[in-house]
Amino acid sequence: MTLAHILGFPRIGKQREIKKALEAYWDKQLDLASLLAIGRQICRENWQLQHTTLDFVTVGDFSWYDHVLDTAAMLGVVPARFATKQISLDVLFQMARGNLTENVIACEMTKWFDTNYHYIVPEIEDSKQFRLSYYELFEAISQAQALGYSVKPVILGPLSFLWLSKCHPIKFDKLSLLDNLMQVYQQIFKQLKALNISWVQVDEPILGLDLPLAWLDGFKKAYGTHHGLNILLTTYFTLFDKIALLNDLAVQGIHLDLTKNCHQLEQLTRDLPNQMILSAGVVDGRNVWKCDLSSCYGQLLKTKEKIQDRLWVASTCSLLHVPVDLTLETTMDPKVKSWLSFAVQKIEEVSALARALNDETPHPLFQISDQCLKMREQSSLIHDPKVKARIAHIEKDMYHRKHPYPKRTKTQKEILNLPLFPTTTIGSFPQTQDLRKLRFEYKKGVILKDEYQAAIAKQIENNIAIQEALDLDVLVHGEAERNDMVEYFAKLLQGYVLSDNGWVQSYGSRLVKPPILFGDVARSSPMTISWINYAQSKTTRPVKGMLTGPITMMRWSFIRDDQDWTITVTQLALALRDEIEDLEKSGIKIIQLDEPAFREGLPLTQKDWPFYLNWAVNAFRLASCVVQDSTQIHTHMCYSEFNDIIESIAQLDADVITIETARSQRELFLALEQFDYPNEIGPGIYDVHSPRVPTIKEMVDHLTNAVKVIPSQRLWVNPDCGLKTRDWAQTKAALSNMVAAAKIMRRSTPS
Ligand code: GLN
Ligand code: ZN
Repeated sequence: MTLAHILGFPRIGKQREIKKALEAYWDKQLDLASLLAIGRQICRENWQLQHTTLDFVTVGDFSWYDHVLDTAAMLGVVPARFATKQISLDVLFQMARGNLTENVIACEMTKWFDTNYHYIVPEIEDSKQFRLSYYELFEAISQAQALGYSVKPVILGPLSFLWLSKCHPIKFDKLSLLDNLMQVYQQIFKQLKALNISWVQVDEPILGLDLPLAWLDGFKKAYGTHHGLNILLTTYFTLFDKIALLNDLAVQGIHLDLTKNCHQLEQLTRDLPNQMILSAGVVDGRNVWKCDLSSCYGQLLKTKEKIQDRLWVASTCSLLHVPVDLTLETTMDPKVKSWLSFAVQKIEEVSALARALNDETPHPLFQISDQCLKMREQSSLIHDPKVKARIAHIEKDMYHRKHPYPKRTKTQKEILNLPLFPTTTIGSFPQTQDLRKLRFEYKKGVILKDEYQAAIAKQIENNIAIQEALDLDVLVHGEAERNDMVEYFAKLLQGYVLSDNGWVQSYGSRLVKPPILFGDVARSSPMTISWINYAQSKTTRPVKGMLTGPITMMRWSFIRDDQDWTITVTQLALALRDEIEDLEKSGIKIIQLDEPAFREGLPLTQKDWPFYLNWAVNAFRLASCVVQDSTQIHTHMCYSEFNDIIESIAQLDADVITIETARSQRELFLALEQFDYPNEIGPGIYDVHSPRVPTIKEMVDHLTNAVKVIPSQRLWVNPDCGLKTRDWAQTKAALSNMVAAAKIMRRSTPS
C-alpha cells in the first residue's frame, strides 16, 4: 500500500484561536488551564482531520510558540539567564519574548530557511547541558494514541538543530557537539519505541543546503546505525543532490520536496537504496494552488511501477506555510477560489493521490482538479494581452537612468537644496489605536468613504506639521491609510486577490495574511498620487512618494505557479513604473521604493544567487529608471547582513539607500570599508524596535563613525526603519534628538 501523510499542519486554529489565546494569556486575561485547553482542542481537530483521510496522524508539529524552541527545550538547551531547574511553558515564553520585569533578553529570532516563518535561535552555552528536559512531545503522542490514532511523531533532526543554533563563543565548532547531542536523540528514539511508535519523521531540512564535507560525515555518524525504529528522514525547500549519501545511512525512508526535484524523479527512484521508502512530496506546502492531481498521478504511477509500496505520498513540507481552510473564504471571487487549496484541502489532495495509486482508479477529486485547472489556464482573469505585449516590448534603456549618479546628484542637489546630513524618516508614523479603529470601521462599513478620507487627510496634515516642527528636511506622509505595505498595493493592483482568513504564522502569536497574486499584474489606476500630493500641498519641504518595491511585493505574496517568478516580478515592476512616472509628473521630487525583502529572497544555495540577484536588480531598475535625473530615487532595506550583496545593492543605482544598521552597525561599516558604495546612504542611526529614546550623543557618535566610511556629502540621517510600532511621545523625542545630532554634525563639518 502507498501510504499518505503530511509533514505538519498549521497550529494557529481555524479562527486564529492560538493568537487570541496566547495574547490573552500573556496579558493575564486567561489562565494556564484555559490556554492549554485551547491548544489541545486545536491538536485534536488537526489529528481528527488527518485520521479520517491519511494513514498517519502527525504529532509534534503543534507548538505554543515555535517548534525549534520546543526542540531546544526538549534537548535541555536553555541559556543560563533563564535559570531554571524545571522547563515549563512560561520558561519557553520567556526565551521567546524576554522578561521585561527582570531585564532578561529574549533569544534571537530569525527566518526559517527562505520562508517568512521565524524560529527562535537555540543558544548552546555548554555541550554538557544536553539532557532530555521537556516532555511535551511524549505527552502529545500519548494523548493522540489514547484517541486511537496511528501516530507518526515529528522531530527536528540533530544536524539541522546544530546548524540552526548559535554557540558561545561564536567561532566554536558546533559539529563537535554531535556525539553528545546524539545521546539525547538516542534516548528520544528509545522513548518513542517504548510508546510503540513505528515511524518517526526526522526533519533535516539542511540536507538541501551547500554542506561542508564534515557535516555530510555528521549525517553518516548520526544516521549510520539503526535506532530501533523506522526513521523517515525529510528534506524540503531545495533540490536534493546528495542521493549517494543515502547508501551510508541506516534510515528506512527519505522524504523529498518534488516541486524542486520532479525532473530527477526517475534517477531518484533508480538510485534509491533497496528497501528504502520514498515519501514523495507532491502537494505544495508553500503555495495555495490546487494540485494538478492527474499529472502528479501520472508521475507517481511510473514511480510506483518501479518501487511499488515503497512509494508514499505527502505534502512537500509542513503545511505551516499555507492558510488553514479555504471554505472560510466567503467573499473571494468564486472563480479564483476554485483554483485554490489551503491546508485542509491539501490533505484531501494527498489522500486522493494515495487512494488512486492503491485502487488504480482515479478519485472523484481528480475530475474537479482537471476542470478547475483548465478553467484557470484559459481564464481571462489571468491573461491580459496588454501586459504580455508590454513585457515583450521592454527596451534595454528602460533599465537605465538617463545619466550616472555623479551627474544626477548635481541636478538633484540644485533642486532639493538640502543641507549636509539631510534628515528623513523611513515612511510610517505611529499606528495609533485610533487609526486602527478608523480603518477597521471603514472596512466594516461603519463609517463612509468621505468621513474616512477626511480623517486620513487630517492625520497627514498633522504628520506634516509635526515633521516641520521637528525641522526634518525630507518629509513623509506617514502611511496612515495603509494597514500593510504589501496588502495596500495588492488591493489596488489588477491580478491580485485578498483573502479574509488566509492567515499564516510568522512567529509566535504574530500572523500574516499574504495577498494572492493569481494573474497578469497591472495598475488599473493611480495608487498613491492623491495622498502624496495632498501631503506635498501642505509643505514647501520635499515629501517622499512611498511605494513597496517589486521584490518585496512578490516575496510577501503567494505568487502564481503557472509562470516563472521572473515574469511575475517584471510585471510588478512595470506596474510600479507607471506609478512612479505619475508621481514624478505630479511634481513629487523624491520617490522611495521599499525593498525590505530584497536580502531574504536570496536562494538557499549559493550557486543560484547570481540569477536571483540579476533579476531582482533588474526589476528594481525597471520600476525606478523611468524618472528624470532630477528626481531622486530612494530605497530602504532592513535586514542586517548586507555584506555579501553590497555590490548588488549598489547596482540598484538608487540615489539614496536608507538601511537598517542600528543593531549591527559594525558589520555594515566593515562592508563599506571594503567596498566603496558609490551613491548616498543613510545607515539607520537608531533602533525603531526599541521603546528607548536614544540620546543626542549616541547619535552623534554613530554619525562620527559613519563619516569614517561614507563621505559626509553622501550621508543621510534617519532611523533604521518605519516608526509605526512606536508611540508619538517616543517618536517625537527620538526624532528631535536625531535632528539635533545632524545639526551638530553640520556645524563641525566644513561644507
Ligand atoms: N516604508 C515602510 C515603513 O516605514 C517600510 C517598512 C519596512 O521596511 N518593513 O513602515
Ligand atoms: Zn525597514
